Amino acid sequence: MTARPPFHPDTALVHGGTARSGFGETSEALFLTQSFVYGSAEAAEARFAGDDPGFIYSRFSNPTVKMLEDRLCLLEGAEACRATASGMAAVTAAMLCCLSAGDHVVAARALFGSCRYVVEELLPRFGIETTLIDGRDLDAWRGAVRPNTKVFFLETPSNPTLEVIDLRAVADIAHGAGAKLFVDNVFSTPLFQRPLEFGADVVIYSATKHMDGQGRCLAGAILSSQKWIDDHLHTFLRQTGPSLSPFNAWVILKSLETFALRVNRQADTAAALADRLADHGKVKRVFYPHRADHPDYAVASRQMARGGTLIAFEVGESKQDAFAFLNRLGLIKISNNLGDAKSLITHPSTTTHQRLDEEARVDLGIHQNLVRLSVGLEHADDLWADLEGALAA
Ligand SMILES: *Cc1c(COP(=O)(O)O)cnc(C)c1O
Repeated sequence: MTARPPFHPDTALVHGGTARSGFGETSEALFLTQSFVYGSAEAAEARFAGDDPGFIYSRFSNPTVKMLEDRLCLLEGAEACRATASGMAAVTAAMLCCLSAGDHVVAARALFGSCRYVVEELLPRFGIETTLIDGRDLDAWRGAVRPNTKVFFLETPSNPTLEVIDLRAVADIAHGAGAKLFVDNVFSTPLFQRPLEFGADVVIYSATKHMDGQGRCLAGAILSSQKWIDDHLHTFLRQTGPSLSPFNAWVILKSLETFALRVNRQADTAAALADRLADHGKVKRVFYPHRADHPDYAVASRQMARGGTLIAFEVGESKQDAFAFLNRLGLIKISNNLGDAKSLITHPSTTTHQRLDEEARVDLGIHQNLVRLSVGLEHADDLWADLEGALAA
């Protein structure tokens, strides 16, 4: 019997979207080209008229980028995908392509720092009103709706405290209000959470994180229905140009072949370390979505297949305690990035969330003793030895 699509995600990650050239190469080709040539003036005309689906210019599309987009569609279960130069290009394009002056956006306040800038500062400059709420509070979503509300935007689990928002419930409120739900799904990854299945309309990624997974390239992706992409995103991306470099697309495409192996292993280690940290006397609180003591455990266990690769925890009482702990780590590196093969740790209040004032940080549960650990591919025992040594001192 021959295996046929749809394949399991592990298989789609290895083969999905591959489009071989006439040479029959095994490994996906890197089409590092800006433009494409036509056999005749008539052929060029047909391509521009849309009668021939071939490539025109890499700001519009490119064969290597297209392979990445097609592979991501299979992984997400989405009809269509567009890749972008970074995760923030994806967030900004998804908003600006469909919003106009006079529209209104409701967003969960626990957002990646740059996403908060887009919502709080950039959109209002163009006459788009925005309201930030506590995303876990369903009445707050309902209460924020106005006649001109077009988009709900959230991140779950959120950065850095790993708050979990009920996707199905928020999608229902959005749709009842005639709005679309946009979900930034970076922290959970499409392996562990597929927001479209819970009613989301648009899913956004920073592929910089787990999809590259080896700390090299920036990239982003937007996935949705074919109709939403055709109606809103297609022309916006072509004309404004936040295009992904074919080289970066190729790096991420090849990285996806090992994505399931890497991310599952990172999640195994993260779950084990979260338990060990929770049992340690110097650790005040641990936030890990699949631990029963997580405040949103019920929702997390319903909508996330696994707890993910990130852990947040409070060390001692103060910034000094947190800094002393970070500075004693050796194997685990201090960096604000995440999803890397290398374990990385950061102090959110002085790095990723420095832009917020202390009151806004405390509102989000980002205390001065909070650190966020992105678990890599090192052996769990070596990571624990590093953490335990730094906590013991
Ligand atoms: C990193 C990140 C982004 C931004 O992605 P870039 O690729 O750095 O532009 C957006 N949202 C979340 C949750 C992220 O972690």
